[in-house]
Amino acid sequence: MPAAVVTGSSRGLGKAIALRFADDGYDVAVNYRSSEEAAADVADEIRERGRDAITVGADVSDAEAATRLVETAAEAFGGVDHVVNNAGIDQHVYTENLDPDDFDRIVDVNVNSAFNVTKAALPYLRASADDPSVTNVSSILAHTGAAIECHYAASKGALLSLTRSHARDFAPDIRVNAVAPGHVETDMTADRTPEEKEEELAEIPVGRYGRPAEIAHAVAYLRDATFVTGETLNVNGGERMG
Ligand code: NAP
Repeated sequence: MPAAVVTGSSRGLGKAIALRFADDGYDVAVNYRSSEEAAADVADEIRERGRDAITVGADVSDAEAATRLVETAAEAFGGVDHVVNNAGIDQHVYTENLDPDDFDRIVDVNVNSAFNVTKAALPYLRASADDPSVTNVSSILAHTGAAIECHYAASKGALLSLTRSHARDFAPDIRVNAVAPGHVETDMTADRTPEEKEEELAEIPVGRYGRPAEIAHAVAYLRDATFVTGETLNVNGGERMG
């Protein structure tokens, strides 16, 4: 059976992506940093769908941990055919109050992790007969910038450059794409005040936040889109068009 590694899949978008891969016939390595129990529940849901699943606790910003994640998955499933670099963190702070260590941490988790996991997965992806792919989860803020989260926006922009560079690096063997979600209902957006929510919704033509399954749908499309590489798929309810 083909298999996928989905980083940060204990919750939110990563969970929806892991379940979508299971629905589409893939075994899945469910990765988390601290939510062991939630990851175990996701793995149970995958098994209920008739696919195999493992859980691997690994801080993917650490290269050794990322390698352990990939190798554990390859051993369990006999290979790795697709990688989704979804793990990410956010922080709201104005630049004048932003500690350089916090800037580095955001870049470590949002960019270095994608490099770490992709690099570790390369030999397995190259050996795959399933039109292997890497999909990086960026953000609408890569395009628009963001006043109180410059480090987050910068990290997501870097992820788009990494995507295009890796698409060239690994062609024609492995396709590499990105999805750039707008506002989606997850723990990451749960801290909005009603006023902030109203302001954000006013900017979204479809009139609501996205659902995790809608981002998973875009990731599944990129996995299956055999003539698409180096591309960014914007999924944002029309908040940023073109
Ligand atoms: P979330 O609900 O906060 O979940 C984050 C996931 O990433 C969790 O599974 C978490 O694991 C994992 N994670 C965080 N740091 C990690 C690390 N160092 N190593 C391994 N796993 C780690 O976030 P989300 O909203 O689903 O966001 C998922 C991705 O989409 C992120 O890259 C985010 O930037 C991007 N995104 C989200 C939105 C949105 O509106 N929600 C919009 C655009 C882009 P634990 O459970 O163990 O902490």
